[in-house]
Amino acid sequence: DKIKVGLLFGGRSGEHEVSINSARSILQAFNYPENLDKYAVIPFYIDKNGCWHSAATARQILTSGQPLAIESDIKVNIWQFPPEVSEIEVWFPILHGPNGEDGTLQGLLTLMRVAFVGSGVLGSCLGMDKIAMKTAFAAAGLPQVKYKAVTRSQVWSNACVFPQLCDQIAEEIGYPCFIKPANLGSSVGISKARNRQELEAALDSAASYDRRIIVEAGVTAREIECAVLGNDNPQASLVGEITFDSDFYDYETKYTDGRSSMVIPANIPDKIANQVREMAVEAFKAVDAAGLSRVDFFYVEKTGEVFLNEINTLPGFTNFSMYPQLWKATGLEFDKLVDKLVQLALERQEK
Ligand code: ADP
Ligand code: MG
Ligand code: MG
Repeated sequence: DKIKVGLLFGGRSGEHEVSINSARSILQAFNYPENLDKYAVIPFYIDKNGCWHSAATARQILTSGQPLAIESDIKVNIWQFPPEVSEIEVWFPILHGPNGEDGTLQGLLTLMRVAFVGSGVLGSCLGMDKIAMKTAFAAAGLPQVKYKAVTRSQVWSNACVFPQLCDQIAEEIGYPCFIKPANLGSSVGISKARNRQELEAALDSAASYDRRIIVEAGVTAREIECAVLGNDNPQASLVGEITFDSDFYDYETKYTDGRSSMVIPANIPDKIANQVREMAVEAFKAVDAAGLSRVDFFYVEKTGEVFLNEINTLPGFTNFSMYPQLWKATGLEFDKLVDKLVQLALERQEK
């Protein structure tokens, strides 16, 4: 009998469209003969309100590539699932960002007591919240740039606390610095500040996205990424580099065709690549990730330093995304990668 896989995509985050594209590529991979013999895939679509849709609607979305038009932000009862949900033996969630990659959905799937691809609740939350992530990385002794955690209430406080906070940041972190909402992705809400005025504006902007904010020392560095695959004995891929012309890898650069490119393998010394691969595995373990993660680094060429930037527990997964491309270059084709991820999910459930 074929294993019933629930391909779950869409979601309430800003990366809804990316998720649709990732799911389309994954569905194609399940249609390869060897996967077709093993798995029967049922797609499920979560619209921008968080409402779940049946396989019929999900298939339409995957065919058209267009999100479902929704009315206003209605309060939905998330416990109303399409009937096919009860048939699923293993879930393949491919939702990026909040409400998909952050442990909330993983909690729901855990309650369902069905195996699922990727990290569990702990790994997902730690991978999403940049403050918690950095605390876990620091505990594991992994090198990172200087950072400081800030809360919205400090930023939106009275005229006395806010200037003090900015003084502290200028002193402890300095300029340029990066100001980020702690729980987002795709560079949404991130700014670079070169002076006090920009810092104030950046903090205010980040506070509009999240209660938790992180401020980091800015580095001039090359951006190196590594794919990790596995459960208790995770493996690292070759490493890749993202190149672009803009000031930093912001939202527009990420999602405008032709603004950035991937170089695989990255043209860096073997010693650095090996260091990155080792650190990627350590980062994966430090947050209790499982299945897959893309781990991102800053490589300061001048000094030879490598800093860990972040882990993404459900990275972009289209045919052209860095994660599957890194595995392809390492010798694992997209369809085999998808099969491996399902097997890893089942293996975790058994233990
Ligand atoms: P996201 O999870 O949204 O991708 P990142 O922390 O990876 O957030 O930041 C997005 C981009 O901002 C990075 O890819 C990099 O270009 C730039 N950036 C972030 N932090 C720093 C930093 N400390 N120094 C230099 N550039 C940074
Ligand atoms: Mg991220
Ligand atoms: Mg990033």
